[in-house]
Amino acid sequence: MKEYNVVLLKGDGIGPEIVDQAVKVMDKAASIYGFKLNYTEKLLGGAAIDETGIPLPEDTIIECKKSDAVLLGAVGGYKWETLPGNLRPEAGLLGIRSALGLFANLRPAKIFSPLRDASPLRQDIIGENLDILIVRELTGGIYFGERGRLDDNGIPAAYDTEKYNVEQIRRICKKGFEAAMKRNKKLCSVDKANVLESSRLWRETVTEMAKDYPDVELSYMYVDNCAMQLVRNPKQFDVIVTSNIFGDILSDEASMISGSIGMLASASLGDGKLGLYEPIHGSAPDIAGQGIANPLATILSCAMMFRYSFDETKAADAIENAVANVLEKGYRTKDIYTEGTNVLSTKEMGIKVIESIE
Ligand code: NAD
Repeated sequence: MKEYNVVLLKGDGIGPEIVDQAVKVMDKAASIYGFKLNYTEKLLGGAAIDETGIPLPEDTIIECKKSDAVLLGAVGGYKWETLPGNLRPEAGLLGIRSALGLFANLRPAKIFSPLRDASPLRQDIIGENLDILIVRELTGGIYFGERGRLDDNGIPAAYDTEKYNVEQIRRICKKGFEAAMKRNKKLCSVDKANVLESSRLWRETVTEMAKDYPDVELSYMYVDNCAMQLVRNPKQFDVIVTSNIFGDILSDEASMISGSIGMLASASLGDGKLGLYEPIHGSAPDIAGQGIANPLATILSCAMMFRYSFDETKAADAIENAVANVLEKGYRTKDIYTEGTNVLSTKEMGIKVIESIE
């Protein structure tokens, strides 16, 4: 029997609650499709700070590197907000992605048809099956560039730097082209090339690469226009490829189109098969411990894990179908509740998904 080693980084806030449900779902799918998952739990974020004083302990990195995939809940919370930036839980998040060489973040913004009403956009704007994939660069750009404080003629000032080299741009755009090839063969490269030099290099590079993907229709869009187009006409998009900071903002915007941040999965990938899978939402400290968090984004992240790291396509499909099924039957967590549907707790939602896996 095939076995895969999965590191669980439950993290903070609702992290442990949602990961616990996702693990049960993975086990059920694995048992039906004939493989076994071995789990190791490690510390990240606030939980790691409390235990070790730092957000990303060395043995977390070592264990993740040895694994086949990593499942992350979420990190962060009020308790650690006053710590210096490099010691905050979020530093652990950026650090683990970087340590594992995960430079591509794949974020689907997909609407399950029973949740169409949850979208703040009109039905005619979202259409039948809205399905956008945002491919975001993860380990470069302004979040990792030089930064500092300085004295600007007596006025306190600060700066951050956006920098990309051609290799960084090539490898993320390659992921974008490859994803487009598997989908509707449309790739939109989003930048700010009218202002930023780094964006002009990005645009030159992606244009040059397009020759190798003659079947993919490449287009370009400025990030401000893209932010607008995502709410004006989201159906025009298939795959969007963009930088770290633009992708961070656009994927949150896209998540709202689909109705709930609690529904959206993500995969972070590098050159090999190892990937880190996590919901796009945070640790939701406002609802932590209440047992009402939506576990579906984490469960759908496991489906992405099966697809991208294990090539267990059938098991991945089974999880996604189970989620669709449960929604079809009118089961909801509080965040996606609409009149006439049944509200379930985090645990109850996990059980419904498990029961629907076939
Ligand atoms: P958040 O995503 O945690 O919460 C935003 C809102 O969405 C809250 O009202 C929350 O209750 C709700 N929400 C989020 N996930 C939900 C779920 N699964 N089910 C039901 N409701 C859900 O964002 P925030 O409040 O800006 O950040 C809280 C903390 O999380 C901060 O410390 C932040 O730095 C951190 N954060 C972590 C990650 C990560 O771990 N990947 C991502 C974003 C924010």
